[in-house]
Amino acid sequence: MPGTALTTLPRSLPQALGRGMRGQCPRCGGAALFAGFLKPVERCPACAQDWTLHSADDFPPYVSILLTGHIMAPVIIALGLHTSLSAPAMMALVALMALVLLIGLLRPAKGGIIAFQWWMGMHGFAPRPGKREALGD
Ligand SMILES: [Zn+2]
Repeated sequence: MPGTALTTLPRSLPQALGRGMRGQCPRCGGAALFAGFLKPVERCPACAQDWTLHSADDFPPYVSILLTGHIMAPVIIALGLHTSLSAPAMMALVALMALVLLIGLLRPAKGGIIAFQWWMGMHGFAPRPGKREALGD
């Protein structure tokens, strides 16, 4: 029955983040978090968590760009030092690698941010299970 899968609640923030980054429901891990590439499902079919309450906004692209820059910087330096690629070939290779990283990191970043917001009880999400018990709910 939806909403009763309490045994599958994550025990920690890293577990919730891992589920979100893998595209699974951060609350139960039993269903997909995304209906499209970046569009989350409105409600988890397994645990009935409402995912319309998230407010990831433009933070996932920011995280994706930040990580891509930090990953690509040493790669660009290594390519410059250890290969004899022409400038156009190097630019094409670096642009392709950056594009793949940017797009590849976008969905895990969004899933992780939604999981973080849910765990922290941000925006419309209820406080996380440990906090909920402390509040006497
Ligand atoms: Zn769920």
